[in-house]
Amino acid sequence: MSKATVNLFWFRRDLRLDDNMGLHYALQDSHPVLPIFIFDRHILDKLEDRDDARVTFLHQTIAHLQGQLAQKGSTMVVRYGTPMQVLQDLVQEYNVAGVYTNRDYEPYARHRDEQVQEYLKGQQIGFHTFKDHVLFEKGEVLTGGGDPYKVYSPYGRNWLDKYEKEAPQSVPNALQSSQFYATTEPATMPSLEEMGFKPSGISLPGSQIDEGIIGSYDKTRNFPAVKKGTSRLGLHLRFGTLSIRKLAARAYQLNKTYLNELTWREFYAMILWHFPHVVDKAFKPAYDAIPWRDAPEEFEKWCQGKTGYPIVDAGMRELNATGYMHNRVRMITASFLTKHLLIDWRLGEAYFARKLLDFDLSSNNGGWQWAASTGTDAQPYFRIFNPYSQTEKFDQHLEYVRHWVPELDTPHYPKAMVDHKLARNRALETIKEAVKK
Ligand code: FAD
Repeated sequence: MSKATVNLFWFRRDLRLDDNMGLHYALQDSHPVLPIFIFDRHILDKLEDRDDARVTFLHQTIAHLQGQLAQKGSTMVVRYGTPMQVLQDLVQEYNVAGVYTNRDYEPYARHRDEQVQEYLKGQQIGFHTFKDHVLFEKGEVLTGGGDPYKVYSPYGRNWLDKYEKEAPQSVPNALQSSQFYATTEPATMPSLEEMGFKPSGISLPGSQIDEGIIGSYDKTRNFPAVKKGTSRLGLHLRFGTLSIRKLAARAYQLNKTYLNELTWREFYAMILWHFPHVVDKAFKPAYDAIPWRDAPEEFEKWCQGKTGYPIVDAGMRELNATGYMHNRVRMITASFLTKHLLIDWRLGEAYFARKLLDFDLSSNNGGWQWAASTGTDAQPYFRIFNPYSQTEKFDQHLEYVRHWVPELDTPHYPKAMVDHKLARNRALETIKEAVKK
């Protein structure tokens, strides 16, 4: 039997049919499009928790997409393995004319795609990549001198200016296309168990844009007790179950403060691209000299939410129970770990990476380096959050704290593990000494 000629569309962080740039362009070509998804062993094998909620989410999302494609008389090939091996297999099974995909900017993905491109080139197969995950990528928002920005404010101004002039436009829903590869073969996909995972009990937020939340975002976003104070769309931006172009267009009309947060996301993605050393080093090299304390027991108390600082404990418990932590509290808990406890930001970053549903290397790294003062922030290291005054400002009636720390006023609640003033001075002196050398 002769092999079918197809273009592959490789889904990665763009798990939707609507307004998907690479998929749209694949469907413009003359060959039928066969969508594929690879459960990547390089990524999955490193995950620590067998009930990782993000894997459950991925599995559900892929099954949904497969169902949508089946209704169109097509399918999605879903495999578990290493990307190179799976692609090599598919090149054997089909007559692959080209591989279409959307760009991913993380160091692992860049390396993976370089290797894939090299292999495909050897087979005379084109590798076509598109911008989809961000509005403006690496080289699109630069200083007058053509360099990447190193601080946010001028980047943000330039970004908005560009957005107002040339906002990237959405493309039609792929379900309208008749270019999908037609097949009557039943769709298959590996089960969670076959990949060594089990379903997570954590509830997953929906991907709908709530205009009410975005509309009042500037007033509600700082208060963790407010139920609908932020959009909770991070997970969907991470996996592309929501189009950034559509979200930004709504934000532009409804609330510029919200749009500004999306710009932070682009800023950190740009930083990771141009300064990949941030993955394991300080953005500002001088700050690599800070002698972080080796204190595994203290780190464990922080992870478990047993520091004796109620707002810190509330945040860590929220994270552990739900895979989410409010942004204000992320800043407070991260500042507490790196300043009050003087524990290496990389440990905190790794813990968040393990737990956050919306974990994204660039934003997580950016947030941690910001809190540790090792990053792009223009403010010097002496910004140390006071957990008590932060609580006073943002959770005055202790609604958030009491929700997560119900034993607050009982003898079961631990005493503060360090004194605020002493810890603050220790941080100031240690960092000052380290960076002046
Ligand atoms: P909203 O407040 O509704 O904001 C909308 C979207 O804007 C977010 O979903 C996110 O995509 C983007 N955004 C908002 N604030 C930021 C920000 N400061 N930096 C970058 N993007 C932002 N965000 C992640 O997406 N993944 C992470 O792994 C991550 N780790 C963080 C670690 C630390 C220490 C800190 C201080 C912040 C981190 N953030 C991270 C940024 C921010 O806390 C989350 O994006 C936000 O809390 C997610 O909730 P939401 O979807 O309700 O966001």
